[in-house]
Amino acid sequence: MNGRIDIVTIFPGYLAPLDLSLVGKARSEGVLDVGVHDLRDWTADRHRTVDDTPFGGGAGMVMRPDVWGTALDDVLLTEADSRTLVLPTPAGERFTQAMAEELALLVCAGGQIAFACGRYEGIDARVAEHYANRDDVTVREVSIGDYVLNGGEVAALVITEAVARLLPGVIGNPQSLVEESHGSAGLLEYPVYTKPPTWRDLDVPEVLRSGDHGRIGTWRRARAVERTARRRPDLLARHAPPRVREAKAID
Ligand code: SAM
Repeated sequence: MNGRIDIVTIFPGYLAPLDLSLVGKARSEGVLDVGVHDLRDWTADRHRTVDDTPFGGGAGMVMRPDVWGTALDDVLLTEADSRTLVLPTPAGERFTQAMAEELALLVCAGGQIAFACGRYEGIDARVAEHYANRDDVTVREVSIGDYVLNGGEVAALVITEAVARLLPGVIGNPQSLVEESHGSAGLLEYPVYTKPPTWRDLDVPEVLRSGDHGRIGTWRRARAVERTARRRPDLLARHAPPRVREAKAID
């Protein structure tokens, strides 16, 4: 039985896309449980306040740790096999396909991922510190890229989708997950084509219509190496030094 994903936010409506497409189908078929929770349900005052002014001064508001603590204590499930609290933040470790795979394994093994979506200037730093001090919770502060969004909801959507599509039963044909960009080969995917064979004077490469799977495999691998070398030389350098030589040979 898969674990579950919970998302706490002050804008539950932002997570509506999780009802759509493959993730929506996985939810309705019981392959994946996703709970979306309104942080304001855990406030204690008439105005349902979640933020306050920053100690030390400065612009903007900071989300209060007491409200977050009450919410997360309720949302983090003691009965889950493990609990990972993801705090989306532009100051976090960069989200990657490898991290998506790690989190998917965790969900497959009955673990829970809970997202705390920040707004304003972010969440009081003691929230991360408190849960990191707990033995039964793993805290990950995660950035989806080097830019600043208004809130953590889009980051939670990105991470949830990248994780969910790796769970068994979510993607119809699991072969689609093989040879993708950012997979174990460390390459970007080769270019793909479909019908018609000629469109606006542009032809599908002849080799792909040859039916010769050996040639097709060689062509695809060469295009993947070439594309990676051109667009993301950092990937070649990081993952597979010998491919740098292969890519140079193609140039
Ligand atoms: N003052 C913060 C800083 O400079 O690091 C930015 C706060 S941002 C306006 C509000 C919230 O958006 C953050 O708490 C976080 O949840 C989310 N957020 C913004 N950019 C993000 C990114 N690149 N990755 C993940 N979450 C992000």
